[in-house]
Amino acid sequence: HLDRIAAVDGDVHAFLHVSGELALQQAAAVDAARAAGEPAASPLAGVPLALKDIVVQQGVPTTAGSKILEGWIPPYDATVTSRLRDAGVVILGKTNLDEFAMGSSTENSAYGPTRNPWDLTRIPGGSGGGSAAALAAFEAPLAIGTDTGGSIRQPASVTGTVGAKPTYGGVSRYGVIALASSLDQVGPCARTVMDTALLHDVISGHDPMDSTSIQFAYLNATKAVEAGRADGLQGVKIGIVKELSGEGYQAGVMESFTAAVATLQGLGAEIVEVSCPHFRYALAAYYLILPSECSSNLARFDAMRYGLRTLADVRDGHALVSAEDVMSATRGAGFGAEVKRRIMLGTYALSAGYYDAYYGSAQKVRTLIRQDFENAYAAADVLISPASPVTAFPLGEKVDDPMAMYLNDLATIPGSLAGIPAMSVPSGLAADTGLPVGLQIMGPTLGEAQMYRVAAAFE
Ligand code: GLN
Repeated sequence: HLDRIAAVDGDVHAFLHVSGELALQQAAAVDAARAAGEPAASPLAGVPLALKDIVVQQGVPTTAGSKILEGWIPPYDATVTSRLRDAGVVILGKTNLDEFAMGSSTENSAYGPTRNPWDLTRIPGGSGGGSAAALAAFEAPLAIGTDTGGSIRQPASVTGTVGAKPTYGGVSRYGVIALASSLDQVGPCARTVMDTALLHDVISGHDPMDSTSIQFAYLNATKAVEAGRADGLQGVKIGIVKELSGEGYQAGVMESFTAAVATLQGLGAEIVEVSCPHFRYALAAYYLILPSECSSNLARFDAMRYGLRTLADVRDGHALVSAEDVMSATRGAGFGAEVKRRIMLGTYALSAGYYDAYYGSAQKVRTLIRQDFENAYAAADVLISPASPVTAFPLGEKVDDPMAMYLNDLATIPGSLAGIPAMSVPSGLAADTGLPVGLQIMGPTLGEAQMYRVAAAFE
């Protein structure tokens, strides 16, 4: 895999940092344990993985795609990182992302965009475009992503790979740089459903280091995939969400979706239509809740604690004397345009006098969306929709139009607001563009087993 990275990553730019020596040491340790006759640490022992550069790994530079963290070396491992290590997974390096995971194309990275291996002139999705592209380009068989509004599922969709967002609280956020704490979730990515399930089982579980981590029984996603393979989908009720289709969805995406429904039916699933009337407000609510939380989370980048520190006025080179001036100059130089836009929006939405009108209303919408899901799950075991309304678009096409960029999250955001598990699996190529389409499968809270059982249809 290191050879493959050396050969193709100049074009793809999936990685921000390749940990060649460290990876070889980890691999040698797995080999030595095997030679000594020790049992494998996990089914994934010795398998290489690409880690999104928003999850910290001790001693390895972490940037979150931002200039403000340039040169920062984390002194500790995220819980996910230590779980991977304990499982014998070999971490190849850190993958590119939109700055602080804000974006849908990886073009907001301060270190240049990642390209889609299917067509190097197109976007690999975002924010986890680096992880998805690394899989699609065969630079790694496994990857870790984070999903706040779709950053695992939409990149998986447009690169023809698999990516799952676990139930909120199912995977520890300790050591994961926060975007919006009530939405962020770490999740597994791979080229096949089974590999994704194996990785899911390695990273999920309660963690006392994360106050939002939940207590639950072992999910055993792997077993669910085996059950799906062996037994098909007889007796499984699948709901098509009426509101997640139609306007804004590309014709080729809808055709592939219809074909996927036929596949599920062929395996014995019963298909029903469900309606979630409040989903039309999901995007608006998300783009108030997310900026509000991120404006608060990103206050920690204050030029004192981590990374970049600007000590002179950028205009005339004068030395800055007050802490406030250093902070303001550093944040001005270190954050990109999208990050600044969201910090300003969130600070405004949280200000006294506006809090109830904006943040408060958005939280009420969030409750209505949760209720829509509850009603839908009374009628169906899992819900489906396209994962992304469009296939991979050309680099540069939407970069100056934030609203057009936000619309890529149309199908993924409702699940994020409700905290349910959801994943994207490849459902074929769009007839109109010849590019990959992803099917989104959404389970009820802690219903990962149902979700993976249905996903097995797309192995
Ligand atoms: N594209 C969405 C956004 O920009 C999703 C981000 C994410 O899931 N990290 O907010």
